[in-house]
Amino acid sequence: MIIYIEDIKRDLGTQKSFCINDTVELSGEIGADKNTKATISANLKITNAGKFMLLTGQMSCTLNPVCCRCLENFELNLSIDITEEFRLKKQSAKEKRKPGETSTSNDDFFFEYSGSQIDISEALRQNILLNLPSRYLCDSACKGLCGSCGINKNLYACQCEKTD
Ligand SMILES: [Zn+2]
Ligand SMILES: [Zn+2]
Repeated sequence: MIIYIEDIKRDLGTQKSFCINDTVELSGEIGADKNTKATISANLKITNAGKFMLLTGQMSCTLNPVCCRCLENFELNLSIDITEEFRLKKQSAKEKRKPGETSTSNDDFFFEYSGSQIDISEALRQNILLNLPSRYLCDSACKGLCGSCGINKNLYACQCEKTD
């Protein structure tokens, strides 16, 4: 997901809009399941804000995670507002910090780009990860699996409960 900014690079306040329909790999972030892809559809805008390029817009994102209770796949839709800064990579980015100084304020988080291209893939991926729920539930009322016979209690009734 590369955005070319040659046309807005020079003039402050210029912007361009674009749409993205793509998939984002979330490998290793969504559990051991194979469903590690998010399908995204985004309406975004990149603005020359002087010191940085500002990416803003709206992204809808669809995943297919496994419910932690019933272990069935379900569709999870997220709607995410995007606001990210991209700064031109400095040649000598390493010598910014004074010796002995520990890493302090990272309140000013931003991504970097070089030349006339901005790769927004990582920014979108990070936004998805930040918006993922801490655990996946197909429904807040999901009944899960029976602890004795393993049946999916959303779909079937079993006899085990009587013995509890
Ligand atoms: Zn469930
Ligand atoms: Zn049972």
